[in-house]
Amino acid sequence: MNEAPLMPGLYVVATPIGNLGDITLRALDVLKRVDLIAAEDTRVTGQLLATLGISKPLLSVREHNERQGAEKLAAKIAAGAAVAYVSDAGTPAISDPGAVLVRALREAGLPVIPVPGASAVTAALSVAGFAPGPWLFAGFLPPKQKARRDAILALKHQPAVLVFYEAPHRVRETLVDLAVTLGGERRICIARELTKQFEETACMRLDETAGWLGASAYREKGEFVLLVEGAAQAESGMADAERMLRVLAEELPASQAAKIAAKLTGRKKSELYDLLVQEHD
Ligand code: SAM
Repeated sequence: MNEAPLMPGLYVVATPIGNLGDITLRALDVLKRVDLIAAEDTRVTGQLLATLGISKPLLSVREHNERQGAEKLAAKIAAGAAVAYVSDAGTPAISDPGAVLVRALREAGLPVIPVPGASAVTAALSVAGFAPGPWLFAGFLPPKQKARRDAILALKHQPAVLVFYEAPHRVRETLVDLAVTLGGERRICIARELTKQFEETACMRLDETAGWLGASAYREKGEFVLLVEGAAQAESGMADAERMLRVLAEELPASQAAKIAAKLTGRKKSELYDLLVQEHD
């Protein structure tokens, strides 16, 4: 590692989202060499630093005091200090404090340097298996049902994969609202407890999520990322299923064609069967 003093500035450092092994070599190096670490919660970061064997002065900079914190840090950096900013877990400013601080320092003309690493959104996307293409990070949905359904509705025709963060006590109702608002046949990947002991990622249709949650008392616990297929993929998936259905229906009775197409595409048999039958009504 480089022993030269760090250039003055704000180092925005990502920390693990569960598995301590995900701290990067560069994050360790920067945390060891900065003059001060500003943190969303000094107790949480204090524990992380103790585990990593790092001892540094800590300053609390969280949502309610980010502006004042920015003023203090700007003065220190202008005087030549290297300062790290860390949130409780993952990458600062991703559904976490950090953006206000960063903007204030940029406006003051001071250097802001990313030290990238873990984030639940990229970890979840990397194992969801959606076709490469656009995705939209929507963060946390509103806690109240009406506002939540409205927010989902506003995204209904978004072609991009939709990515949400959710807390365990709200995941059940959010999954219901997603199914009701977007339609039960859209696909979702639920990424739970990533990088931790009970990590799991399961992909299914939205109308299957209640069964999946109910299958174990532990399923509603932990931290969640919800990734929902975008409207473009849902529509092109349906178009593929329909093409397959029509080829099968030329050779087989409607119910058998629908059954095989459903198995091959993951769509609902009844939905495919209805497509064939409706034409003969
Ligand atoms: N800054 C963090 C990041 O970069 O991912 C996110 C902080 S946000 C306050 C916390 C939310 O991130 C959790 O409620 C959950 O939705 C998601 N999250 C964090 N860690 C996770 C994990 N290990 N597995 C799944 N989701 C996680």
